[in-house]
Amino acid sequence: MRKKIVAGNWKMNKNLEEGHQLTSEVVNMVKDEVTSDVQVVLCTPFVHLNSISKLLAGSKNVMLGAQNCSEHASGAYTGETSVSMLKSVGTQFVIIGHSERREYFGETDALFAKKVDAVLAAGMTPIYCCGEKLEVREANDHIKLVTAQVSEALFHLSADALQKVVIAYEPVWAIGTGKTASSAQAQEMHAEIRAHLAGKYGKNVAEEITIQYGGSVKPDNAVEIFAQPDVDGGLIGGASLKSRDFVDIVKAMK
Ligand code: PEP
Repeated sequence: MRKKIVAGNWKMNKNLEEGHQLTSEVVNMVKDEVTSDVQVVLCTPFVHLNSISKLLAGSKNVMLGAQNCSEHASGAYTGETSVSMLKSVGTQFVIIGHSERREYFGETDALFAKKVDAVLAAGMTPIYCCGEKLEVREANDHIKLVTAQVSEALFHLSADALQKVVIAYEPVWAIGTGKTASSAQAQEMHAEIRAHLAGKYGKNVAEEITIQYGGSVKPDNAVEIFAQPDVDGGLIGGASLKSRDFVDIVKAMK
């Protein structure tokens, strides 16, 4: 049975005090209200990881994630953060390949492959994001593009390593736009990604990979999207900044 994982991507939001408050609220609500075995991940800004890690120490199923990492182990890389630094403050998950990293920072699938390796070598879980822009979908090339993103960043991995990766399908046109993919569009792409994994690694391995959906997930659309058979959770941006909304989305993952 694959894991169900709902992760919040705070992006560049929340100062430390606000981040602590949001974390405490989420931890308490999850403890009181979430009865399913869903794992919850808070992907906070780097500077908050160390102290938020302490706030999560007593929580069974709320975990800590970072939003990026360096592909390098250490050295003269001003402004960068290594996987061993992340690991040393209790980080368990690292988002790799977010569309904002692709678009604003020029990061490529080849670089993501190296970052995925670094995260796995440090014993953390990469959440690898893939997804097409609107013009690609309109040209009906979305499946070709997304499966290529998956191959290029992940297909150098062994089957054992691949099984430690979480994939997040995030259509770029749905991120932060209020426009979500329909549940049928999400299911179609998730099934295509899983079939693509099966083609390379076999059906048994593909069936074990958690594939999250991300893109304007809100409490009122989460139930329908999460009910799709190949949707195993969500990567949540804007709605993860409000504890009530975020926990309501977590509760939608049954
Ligand atoms: C994201 O940034 O990963 C995301 C899905 O954002 P939003 O939920 O705000 O669309």
